Amino acid sequence: MTAKPAAAAARATVYGYPRQGRNRELKKAVEGYWKGRVTPDALRQTAADLRRSAWQQLADAGIHEVPTGDFSYYDHVLDTSVMVGAVPPRHRAAVDADALDGYFAMARGTQDMAPLEMTKWFDTNYHYLVPELSPDTVFTADSAKQVAELSEALALGLAARPVLVGPVTYLLLAKPAPGAAADFEPLTLLDRLLPVYAEVLADLRAAGAEWVQLDEPALVQDRTPAELNTAARAYRDLGALTDRPKLLVASYFDRLGDALPVLAKAPVDGLALDFTAAAAANLDALAAVGGLPGKRLVAGVVDGRNVWINNLENSLSTLGTLLGLADQVDVAASCSLLHVPIDAATERDIDPQILRWLAFARQKTAEISTLARGLAQGTDAIAAELAANRADLASRATSPITHDTAVRARVAAVTDADSRRSQPYSTRTVAQRAHLKLPLLPTTTIGSFPQTAELRAARADLRAGRIDDAGYEQRIESEIRDVLAFQEQAGIDVLVHGEPERNDMVQYFAEQLTGYLATQHGWVQSYGTRYVRPPVLAGDISRPEPMTVRWTAYANSLTDRPVKGMLTGPVTMLAWSFVRDDQPLGDTARQVALALRDEVGDLEAAGTSVIQVDEPALRETLPLRAADHAAYLAWATEAFRLTSSGVRPQTQIHTHMCYAEFGDIVQAIDDLDADVISLEAARSHMQVARELAAHGYPREAGPGVYDIHSPRVPDADEAAALLRKGLDAIPAERLWVNPDCGLKTRGWPETRASLENLVTAARTVRGELSAS
Ligand code: GLN
Ligand code: ZN
Repeated sequence: MTAKPAAAAARATVYGYPRQGRNRELKKAVEGYWKGRVTPDALRQTAADLRRSAWQQLADAGIHEVPTGDFSYYDHVLDTSVMVGAVPPRHRAAVDADALDGYFAMARGTQDMAPLEMTKWFDTNYHYLVPELSPDTVFTADSAKQVAELSEALALGLAARPVLVGPVTYLLLAKPAPGAAADFEPLTLLDRLLPVYAEVLADLRAAGAEWVQLDEPALVQDRTPAELNTAARAYRDLGALTDRPKLLVASYFDRLGDALPVLAKAPVDGLALDFTAAAAANLDALAAVGGLPGKRLVAGVVDGRNVWINNLENSLSTLGTLLGLADQVDVAASCSLLHVPIDAATERDIDPQILRWLAFARQKTAEISTLARGLAQGTDAIAAELAANRADLASRATSPITHDTAVRARVAAVTDADSRRSQPYSTRTVAQRAHLKLPLLPTTTIGSFPQTAELRAARADLRAGRIDDAGYEQRIESEIRDVLAFQEQAGIDVLVHGEPERNDMVQYFAEQLTGYLATQHGWVQSYGTRYVRPPVLAGDISRPEPMTVRWTAYANSLTDRPVKGMLTGPVTMLAWSFVRDDQPLGDTARQVALALRDEVGDLEAAGTSVIQVDEPALRETLPLRAADHAAYLAWATEAFRLTSSGVRPQTQIHTHMCYAEFGDIVQAIDDLDADVISLEAARSHMQVARELAAHGYPREAGPGVYDIHSPRVPDADEAAALLRKGLDAIPAERLWVNPDCGLKTRGWPETRASLENLVTAARTVRGELSAS
């Protein structure tokens, strides 16, 4: 009889760490470099210092194996394009002239060269640069960055594991290069890409890598059998290499589903899987395939993309189950910690009781290391941590902040009728026409007007105490007067107050709602050097007092035309915040919706006849798996209607969404039952208007005729031409005329000219309609 060899002690690891530094040093260095104020050497030095201090922090926290290669000046998918030599032809000369400047040219473009397209990294708020590939793409290996960063970590005496975007995910995230056939599938380039990965793997092994991690999050999305076969082939071939480090294939953000047996069978040395609630199905699925005998399993039990403390006992129990399913079980966060802020301990303004419930990157690494210790040495070894964790979880579960009885009672009393308008659209529209008396093809804007330097200065002055509330309000009122005067003079039909008082469309409301927290230092990377501070939905949500009525009513008092009230909708409030993990998202959405419903009611009572509830994030929060779409859309559309349905028939509800891919949610857009929707459409030449028409969308719509993403001024003929296209899809009685989105990032000169042209275009087309 042979004794079963004891499992090797559990190790603690992570897949990536925030890149920016504690004081956003990276942002400052990179932006300084762009402005010529920071030399390339100084930028490289700052980056190296940041990497070293991040590794040191991880090692000090008890992380046994640190990640390398996850650092980036801009984006790790762009780094992967550089690593495999996939530089688009238009950027080639810039890259050859200077690698660093060429890198930033791919990221940001130059005067005469478009950048790579940018899009969201799965269902996070991080944006990556989309690889552009064509049948002519020639891959070449450039392992310099990966090798250099591995060597830096090894030189510090640390155990280090390079992390790479895996070849299948890289190809699945790519799009056909301009000029390539639209149906070209980048995945068909796999056979050309694998030798390049083989070369990088050999280089990393030569540089001292024992393990290399290949990230394949694209395999948690719905994949065709052909795509799964391609993934199987990729890892069969990489596994068969002789000169290679051990391979750890990682997935995160959701369950692997059909891809799990594929990866479990692959001749690689380990898998890293997400075991948080969102991917809980991985546990049974792993057991069902008989586990990973002879392999390493890295268990992502600490949520890497949310800000709440872990339930250590639950995680230990998951880890205990996993012990029987693999040779070696290590502990990690579910995904890179890139998606959370660095350190909750630096927050000074958060109630200490709530602070105990929060875990940012630093706190998460401590949890991971505690769990690894508990797994290796038994729970007695972490008794103190377990007791503290139990107490923190209990304080959260029983706190009046997370259980406001008044909010709960109100949510419980919501009926189906609350999320339905009292009259159908056919009746409402008659009442609205009589009440608003708008011309055919009414003109309006999406809400914000240019956020000028003066407005930002006014906010800074208020924060610094250089002006008082009254002084600040005077400046806002004066801005509203200017914005109103311009719109009247330009001849716009439905006016807005311009949102000058809003720093950000989510934060502005979060700051005024009870249960919502703002952080002082909770920066996370959105893209490149852009960082955002998402607010935290920490408790039950209520609205102590009106949030927007004062400004809208002031604007209303200045004009005889209708002024549109502007609110951010419940789905977008959730999408751009850190959400609660102790109740279903739909419950949180319903609480936010009820608070916003009160605001809608107060706006109506103050004489506002048009109210817009923005939901630009409705499409982007769609779950990764199609099987989960219906449940999401059900609560999302219900929350919108709960916000907007309490008004009289003659009050007109608008909504607004950006981005171009609506095809798969047209039904949900219809289910919002908004009277009017404005959508981004200018760049796609009114594509959404045709999609709405094909669906039989029964209400009013304003596909944008002015692309606000660039300072370019569309002339009146161009806007009129788009409008005529819109009329091909949507009848004149239901067509609105508006820009693609808000104007806050634009300057005044181009805003003035563009809106004047937009009104001219509307008048021209109205003339054509009445003549015919
Ligand atoms: N009302 C907002 C604005 O105009 C909408 C912004 C958005 O759609 N992202 O700025
Ligand atoms: Zn928009």
